[in-house]
Amino acid sequence: MKLITEKDIIRDVAKVWHKQYSKYIDSGEDINVANFDMSHQKPSKQIYEELLNLDPNAAAADIASIIGNDSWTKIFCDVCGEISECKTAVQFHVNYEDVVMCRKCIIKALNIILQSE
Ligand SMILES: [Zn+2]
Repeated sequence: MKLITEKDIIRDVAKVWHKQYSKYIDSGEDINVANFDMSHQKPSKQIYEELLNLDPNAAAADIASIIGNDSWTKIFCDVCGEISECKTAVQFHVNYEDVVMCRKCIIKALNIILQSE
């Protein structure tokens, strides 16, 4: 079990971006040219370089302005299936997979347990 915070996500965003778009970053061939994904408007490699040069104390809004959308700093909850507005979540390792549970779902689960005691 591991705590995930927005700050962790911001710290790792360049690494995660590279993992997602490595084929395009390494080849220099942009994903937009291939027309597969229009979620960002700048070349993948340029975005990667801007993310690498980010200030360590950058805010989610700084990343959204580089990428062109705010989805990269949001936490996706596997339990409620929503992109959470929560700034923290917990990641569980279940059956060889990572499962993320947002703060709202954890509190809801805790209340269910506390009300049963
Ligand atoms: Zn949730």
